[in-house]
Amino acid sequence: MYYCIACNKVHPPLSTKNEIIFKTGFHYINSTMYSAGICKAVPEPEELQKSVTA
Ligand SMILES: [Zn+2]
Repeated sequence: MYYCIACNKVHPPLSTKNEIIFKTGFHYINSTMYSAGICKAVPEPEELQKSVTA
């Protein structure tokens, strides 16, 4: 299990190529330590701007 900073909740590992689990980041929930991660790739800021202006 890891704490997903994109969804703000704990996930089981999904083993997708976009999933990132930080080796150096941790998050405590109810005194339990979880690795921090992201279940999907975060869009590049440049791409985000394009989609906003398009
Ligand atoms: Zn997630």
